[in-house]
Parts: sequence; structure tokens; C-alpha cells
Amino acid sequence: MSEISVVMLGTGSPRPNLNRSQPAQALVVKDQAILIDCGEGTTAQLMKAQINPQSIKFLIFTHLHSDHTMGYAQFLLGGWGQGRSELTIIGPKGTKEFHENILNMYSYDIDYRCSLGRSSAGVRDVQVIEFDGPGELLENPLPYKITTARMIHNVPTFAFRFEIDGTVIVVSSDTSPNEEIVHLADRADLLVQNAGLTTGQKSKALEKIWDQLQKEHCTPTQAGVIAKRANVKKVVLTHFLPEADAQIAFEEASAEFSGEVIVPEDLQIIKVG
Ligand SMILES: [Zn+2]
Ligand SMILES: [Zn+2]
Repeated sequence: MSEISVVMLGTGSPRPNLNRSQPAQALVVKDQAILIDCGEGTTAQLMKAQINPQSIKFLIFTHLHSDHTMGYAQFLLGGWGQGRSELTIIGPKGTKEFHENILNMYSYDIDYRCSLGRSSAGVRDVQVIEFDGPGELLENPLPYKITTARMIHNVPTFAFRFEIDGTVIVVSSDTSPNEEIVHLADRADLLVQNAGLTTGQKSKALEKIWDQLQKEHCTPTQAGVIAKRANVKKVVLTHFLPEADAQIAFEEASAEFSGEVIVPEDLQIIKVG
């Protein structure tokens, strides 16, 4: 791995898919990983990527949709079971309540494990940082600048810009096209961009909600336009439905954006800088 990389742990969507786990990325800086979103299967994906779940001390939620949070209980309790003794989570308003709901749901289980002599550090004392709006993340425990922008989705959702020793990585999270992501991703080295609305065959159920989804997600073509307008070096498309055709997605984004387009598989490592 280079000094900075993004591991695409989950490139899928809410729909169950054997080939694409639910959304999650690891941002790895000098062998220290942080987690961005935590869809179902994230802990296993970390292990497949040879990143110890317990080594992760910071988790950022872009929003609280189930496909971005469903793996949290296992990440929290499984990582604690493996020896993690400190954890900070960062997310929009509602993150604290979400975390406490998980703790309450498994309170009896945590009590039992503590009764065997295990310290509750790392599970009952998780630090939760909620942020309210876009802009620079002021309560920032990480050693690099983080800026957020509000996206267009159906719950409060934020894109993140990380500036690490002059290298810029932006994660769009779920959104329809908007000016904020173009601005936030300005000249980024890497943009991880929602592009789940791929061309091709759709199930009847998907046909029914397709128009609604246009208001909440991007097509690969739109992802290419965002990458071009933001003048990024590299764009990674993600959030794919099971029907997605990677080759078509690649071609559509590439028709708009002349820089590097990556349509990743799960666990693909994207080197940056
Ligand atoms: Zn979402
Ligand atoms: Zn999603």
C-alpha cells in the first residue's frame, strides 16, 4: 500500500448481493485505517482486507440509512471482543441516538461479557461526535482537515473531504447531482462517487421506484460530469445494485470524464498520491 489508500470494502447497496457488500470504505493513512460508513458485512470485509477491525478507532457515518449502518453492531461488539478499548464515531445528528439504541438492544449481552471480567472500555464509553451542518469539522479528533457538504438525499447526508499532507480525498456518499459536491471535490486527487443508477435491465420492483431514485442518487454519466466539473484526478464509482453492469458504468462515466475512472470490485485498494 502507498502512504494513503482507500479500500473499497463494500460497493453495494441496500439490496442483498453476494458480490457487493453494503457501503463502507477504509481510508488508510500510514497503515492507520479509519472507517467511512459501516454497512452489513463490513467487519468481515475488513478482515478479508487484512485490516484488524479492532485496530480501527474512528468511524464516520455519512448518513444513517440502514445500508450504511447495519454492520455497526458487529463492528462495535465484535471489535470490542477482539480487544478494542477505544472508539470514536462521527456522524450527523441522530448518530448518538442510533449508537445508544444499539447499546440498549445488546445491554444484557454486554453486561454478561463484563461479568466474565472484561472491561467495558471500548463499548460503553464510545465517544460520539455529532455535527450539525456543512463546513469544516471543528470537533475533529483526526490529524487532518475534514470538511463536509450537505448532499441531496432523503435523510440528512454529508459528503466528506479529507486533506492529508496535500492529498485530497472526497467521498460523496448518497446523493443526486448537486453543486455542493462539485465544489467540495474541487481538484481532489480521488473522488469516491455515488453512481448506482446504472443502465440496464431492472426488476419490476426497481422500475417502480426508478423515478424517485433519480432524486437521491447519481447515474455513472452524472458521476462523470461531477468528476469533470470538479476537475478531480481520479473517480471511483460505487453503490451498485445487483443488476449493475460494470463495463457500461465505466463507459458512461468515461464518456464525460477524461481522467481515470475506476469501477471497483469489493476489497479493491485505490492508491492515492
Ligand atoms: Zn442512503
Ligand atoms: Zn446507500
